[in-house]
Amino acid sequence: MVSEFRNHPLTDFSKPENKAKMQEALESVKSEFDRIYPLYIGGKEVETGDLLKSYNPCKKDEVVGTFHKAGKKEVDQAIEAAQQTFKSWSFEYPQKRADFLFKAAEVMRRRQFELNAWMIHETGKNWVEADADTAEAIDFLEFYGREMLRYADEQPVTPVPGEENELIYIPLGVGAVIPPWNFPLAILTGMTSAAIVTGNCVLLKPASDSPTIGHKYLEIIQEAGLPPGVLNYMPGSGGTIGDHIVSHPKIRFIAFTGSKEVGLRINELAAKHQPGQIWLKRVIAEMGGKDAIVVDREADLDEAVEGVAVSAFGYQGQKCSACSRAIVDESIYDEFVEKLKERSKKISIGPVDDPNNYMGAVINKAALDKTLKYIDIGKKEGRLIYGGEKGSDSGYYVQPTIFTDVDSKARLAQEEVFAPVLAVTKARDYDHALEIANDTEYGLTGSVYTKNEDKIEKAKKLFHVGNLYFNRKCTGALVGGHPFGGFNMSGTDSKAGGRDYLLLFMQAKSMSKKV
Ligand code: NAP
Repeated sequence: MVSEFRNHPLTDFSKPENKAKMQEALESVKSEFDRIYPLYIGGKEVETGDLLKSYNPCKKDEVVGTFHKAGKKEVDQAIEAAQQTFKSWSFEYPQKRADFLFKAAEVMRRRQFELNAWMIHETGKNWVEADADTAEAIDFLEFYGREMLRYADEQPVTPVPGEENELIYIPLGVGAVIPPWNFPLAILTGMTSAAIVTGNCVLLKPASDSPTIGHKYLEIIQEAGLPPGVLNYMPGSGGTIGDHIVSHPKIRFIAFTGSKEVGLRINELAAKHQPGQIWLKRVIAEMGGKDAIVVDREADLDEAVEGVAVSAFGYQGQKCSACSRAIVDESIYDEFVEKLKERSKKISIGPVDDPNNYMGAVINKAALDKTLKYIDIGKKEGRLIYGGEKGSDSGYYVQPTIFTDVDSKARLAQEEVFAPVLAVTKARDYDHALEIANDTEYGLTGSVYTKNEDKIEKAKKLFHVGNLYFNRKCTGALVGGHPFGGFNMSGTDSKAGGRDYLLLFMQAKSMSKKV
């Protein structure tokens, strides 16, 4: 009997013993930076000689790992291996499949500091953000393991006289899991584990900016004893092999989290029937956001400032849930802006292996260039009141940047920047603020700061986002407590970490016997 699900606690780094363990892990993983990682197909290590290097964005010349890249040939081999394995894996007892996840969670708990260290080096997460990422990955394993047990139980069907009826959930087949780099362990673990525990076999193509973390997941699930062929690890450029994977006739589903552009491409390609394909492919796509925090005239201003700053600049604004728009009632606008500017001055930037740095670098050069381009756009569309410059050239650093007086229709208020760039917009009143908040093509997260309960009730009805918060930041969804996924162009609202999620990876079979 498994216990009721509870979220894994975050590490308290103010304790000297935890600080020491984190510092030790940061040092010790460096001894593996020169490793060259193979692909993993059908239980075998495969080398292609075509190499991909992963770099530390905070120390841009530091290589964190080198990876053999999959080409189309390896994709075909992996799909074949996964298909073969599916014949047995799909009939494995759900309880046993769930057990692999529980064991993997155990391994992750043991390796938590090491996993944090890899994320700090490979993706520029600060200590606290990396630790939260690992905790979320552990939560996904524990939560989906329990969810599988629930779906494996007898499912309710209406009694029919003279018949014995049942409904069971069976897996879909071979699927592709395509995660982003920004929650390199949590999202990758969540999507992959959900697919596996429901009885599917998987091709995991990690993001090219975080293949090391993907490999750590592979090591962990292998240590948990997962049979070969269930998970096939395929680093490689999405632009080169992505279309081939998605359009392959033997791929049954694609679980994707990433940008709107790539998500739409996958959705379109997957919809096209290929010769030999005998199903409609299922696409689970979680995409971008243009998330807003509404600050009402009846808000606690200090709390609102803190919530906006943390949501906008945490992990350099590189969260799909990050606040990129603050919509502020005109009666408190000037005071809010002044306080936010003062708060932002306290943000320290630099290499995040140093715990004193709150913000690290953005993920790569392309991200830095894109951010600087949007800062130029912002200078034309609003008033730059803070930041706006790039930082040290030792990494891809950019200051937390705030533009005020941004029109709600401006590009800066409509397009996802995915960087520490915040647009502040003035609203006439609360209704106007909600109208502005809803006026983008996205609908992922949002938050409202107000002490007025009637206004909260109004937002519950009218603020159209998948994850809505009140008097708190709009980032930091917890597995189980805040099932996560957005509306409109933010995706298929799959609600990762919620009770409906595993259904996306299964189909229901209804059976009836005459008695
Ligand atoms: P991305 O550029 O769309 O990449 C995501 C994944 O797709 C990567 O593994 C990438 O591989 C792969 N890919 C690229 N081109 C492909 C193609 N043609 N076919 C198949 N796969 C392809 O996104 P990202 O920069 O990694 O992540 C940031 C984005 O993710 C933001 O828009 C953010 O809002 C969104 N996001 C959404 C959620 C959510 O839950 N809604 C959560 C996190 C992030 P390569 O790395 O090799 O290019």
